[in-house]
Parts: sequence; C-alpha cells; structure tokens
Amino acid sequence: TLGEIECSFTQQLHQWTEQFRPYSAQGKCAAYIPALAEANPEHLGVCIAHPNGQVMKAGEWDIPFTMQSISKVIGFMAACSVCGMEEVLNRVDVEPTGDAFNSIIRLEAHKPGKPFNPMINAGAITVSSLLPGKEPADKLEPILSLLEKILGKRPLVNENVFKSEWETAYLNRSLAYYLKQNGFLAAGVEEALEVYSRQCSIQVTAEDLAKISLVIADDGFDPFQGKQMIPRRITKVTKALMLTCGMYNASGKLAAFVGVPAKSGVSGGIMAAIPPRGRRGAPFQEGGGIGIYGPAIDQVGNSVSGLMVLKDMAEHWDLNIF
Ligand code: GLN
Repeated sequence: TLGEIECSFTQQLHQWTEQFRPYSAQGKCAAYIPALAEANPEHLGVCIAHPNGQVMKAGEWDIPFTMQSISKVIGFMAACSVCGMEEVLNRVDVEPTGDAFNSIIRLEAHKPGKPFNPMINAGAITVSSLLPGKEPADKLEPILSLLEKILGKRPLVNENVFKSEWETAYLNRSLAYYLKQNGFLAAGVEEALEVYSRQCSIQVTAEDLAKISLVIADDGFDPFQGKQMIPRRITKVTKALMLTCGMYNASGKLAAFVGVPAKSGVSGGIMAAIPPRGRRGAPFQEGGGIGIYGPAIDQVGNSVSGLMVLKDMAEHWDLNIF
C-alpha cells in the first residue's frame, strides 16, 4: 500500500541520517557570522515533500535555522515576479564563476562589473536592491510573502543572526560599494545590504525547504494547494541557476556527480528540486522537493553530512537528471 511504501522511504531517510551524522565531524559550523557558530554540528535532518501532500521526515527535520544563501533563490524569484525577469537580468548575469560566494575579484576584473549571477553575494545584493519600495522592510516584503504563500505561515527573521551578520558584513559592504560605484545597485548601499542580510536571516526548517523546492520542481505550481505560485519561466531559469551556481564553487562537481538543481547556505541547509524520476512506486516518480539541514560545513560552504545524504539519495533513487 501507499502507506507502507512511504514508511519504507522514511526508514531509508532515518538510515541515512544515522549513517552520515558522524561525518559532520569533518566539517565545522560557519563562524564568520558569529551567531551561526552556536548551532549543534551533529544535527542532521532530512525531508522529502511528495506532490501527493506527504512529507517524509527524519533526524532533526524540525530544528529552525536561517536560510542564508538559500534565500538568494527566493529573492531572485520574488524580484523576477514583481519587477519582470528582463529588468533583473539587466543588472545581473546568469553565468557561473567558479569563485567563492563572497568573492570580489570579478567585479573589478570584468568591466563594467556586472555581477555574474544571482547565487553569489554580489548578484544577490543587486537583486535585493531592485525590489520595490524604499525602506528595507518594504523591499523584504515580496520575499516574505512568497514564502508565506508557499508555507502557509509567515516566516520569522532571526534578529540575533541578522545583527551578527550586519555587524560583521565587511566583505559584503565592500561588494555593495563596488556595485554602487559601477551603477548596478538600485538602492543605497546600506538599504540593499539590510534587505540582503535580513533575507539571509529568515528562519526555516528542513521541512520548509522541502516544500519550497517541491514548488520549484513543479515549475512554480504548488501541488499541496493546487495553485501556480511562481510563473513557469522564472522557475526554469531558477533551476538552471541552481544547477550551475547553486552549490558555490562546488556546483560543477554537484552537477557532474549528483546531477540535481540544488542550493545550499552556510548555515548548513540544502534544498533540491527533483523532476519526475524513476519507475512506478519510486519516491520521485512524480517529482518532489528535498530539504536537508546539517550545520557542519566544508571549506566551500556546503553541509558535509547533508551533501553525503543528497549524493546517496540521488544514486539510490536515480535522481540524476542527466
Ligand atoms: N549571509 C551570508 C553571507 O552573505 C550568506 C552566505 C552563504 O550562505 N553562502 O555571507
């Protein structure tokens, strides 16, 4: 029966969380934003959101954490929805860089300094600056309301994490000043930075990430609510960006060896949007969303244990889109 099949999928998720949890010792919680260092490095939670409305959960799936870079995906979709994709792409390109997410080198090296893509900090700060309104709170609104529509609850901004990032955002400030100088920011430096840092501090769980990625997987349609939440063409570009730029400067390896559109954040979250894959009875036969949380990250900034689960999942259930 359907219930039994889902039960065995959940058991499989449990097995993975226990199998890969010890590997978190190979990573460390991010500390350059001091508040992120307070997370428990041994946490590992995994969720799958199935289009039939089921959410399969294992490990610490209900621990709240801040989205960090995963918010870049929401920011991009929200900006494209309210400003139009052309307007957004006038100010940010869709090319991978192979550099660290907070790298400043290409803004100076490639005139006129257009940020390469919305999944690196320079691009995301630019996208945040474009959102309508003058006050940071107004600009944040489309991001929060898109999440509220999908999750059925208004997500919170973790003020402690926001303050911690705000006070230490030296590199992001440099990026923003560079962007402003070259004419790419559509708002003041401090306003753009505040929107960006607040969106990074939006709190979610692995379950929330699974639901969000389910909607992205289904081209913007939310099967839980039976509604189109985001225009199709925006989610197609978003998935291409996730595949080519979503896992920082490990995106190429992810595409090569896992092969799913995914986005990570330095707080240890990963979400992956899976198109229909596998035979009858397979968990992703009708597509689905994956949400993972494991705060111990590697040198590049990706969750160590989370990445291992995602890789095994992709192999086990044949999720590689290639
Ligand atoms: N808020 C973080 C920063 O800008 C997000 C980075 C990330 O998750 N890679 O540094």
